[in-house]
Amino acid sequence: MNSLMDFVIVGGGPTGVELAGALTELKKNVFPKDYKELDMRQMDIHLVEASPRLLNGMSTQAGEKAYQFLVEMGVKVHLNAAVKSYDGYEIILSSGERLISRTLIWAAGVKGNPIEGIGEAALTRGNRILVDAYNRVKGHENIFAIGDVALMEGDEKFPKGHPMMAPPAQQQGRLVAKNISNLINKKELKPFAYFDKGSMATIGRNKAVVDMRGGIRFQGFFAWYVWMFVHLMSIVGFRNKVFTFFSWMWNYFSYDRSNRLIIGRNEEKINQEELTKQST
Ligand SMILES: Cc1cc2nc3c(=O)[nH]c(=O)nc-3n(C[C@H](O)[C@H](O)[C@H](O)COP(=O)(O)OP(=O)(O)OC[C@H]3O[C@@H](n4cnc5c(N)ncnc54)[C@H](O)[C@@H]3O)c2cc1C
Repeated sequence: MNSLMDFVIVGGGPTGVELAGALTELKKNVFPKDYKELDMRQMDIHLVEASPRLLNGMSTQAGEKAYQFLVEMGVKVHLNAAVKSYDGYEIILSSGERLISRTLIWAAGVKGNPIEGIGEAALTRGNRILVDAYNRVKGHENIFAIGDVALMEGDEKFPKGHPMMAPPAQQQGRLVAKNISNLINKKELKPFAYFDKGSMATIGRNKAVVDMRGGIRFQGFFAWYVWMFVHLMSIVGFRNKVFTFFSWMWNYFSYDRSNRLIIGRNEEKINQEELTKQST
């Protein structure tokens, strides 16, 4: 335990899980090369989640596998533990446990940025804006809200709102554009229906979880390849896809990052400089 080296991530959703996995890989493969003077055994990565499981938006199977992967990688996962307070040093959990860290990373959700003019009545939990099936802001005919900030009322499949992810935002954006055109042309508006292709999260090298539409679920090596393929295909432009692909291949085989921050002299270099000074 070392307050300057330990990381506490709050929130066991895809962001927290992916971040915990990525930090663990940095600790294992990259930091020992960059910070030779540090004893990496002192670095602990904690993931704190208020509910009894990880990846609440995904299947139980995906949540359990993500937990298993992270524990195997050395992450200290705290379930049923909400953060009660943090003073920049000490984190108190609802379980009574105390963690010490100078770095706490909040991955437990985002809050909308309300703007003046949208009445209080249209705002709900996390400052999300209540909208109807056409993404019209509650109480307004000509103001629309889409994506993370919008909470659509009346969708039986998603009573707490659509997942705060890119696909609902993109799909709503496309439909609202069409509906505005329909409004101008005095045509009927089309209600929004979320087409959920599935969810996935990557935990680390060769470790991912995938829940596909139609109940198809898989985890591990193959899931990791599927994750990479889907994300590679989402990158705009052929050149960028190829560049990213080769960059990933390089990282996979080199266990390293091409970017490097040089923030100080490491012990090896200091000793060599000292030896040179002594011999001259
Ligand atoms: C760390 C992290 C990882 C994520 N990973 C994934 C993932 O792997 N897959 C996935 O599907 N989703 C992921 N998400 C969620 C995804 O990023 C969001 O769901 C998506 O970006 C929502 O799109 P949006 O257009 O609604 O909002 P945003 O992308 O947040 O865009 C809103 C924009 O509005 C701007 N803005 C805010 N207030 C104002 C104002 N008053 N005036 C003008 N501009 C303003 C903001 O600066 C921002 O640029 C991730 C989110 C985070 C935080």
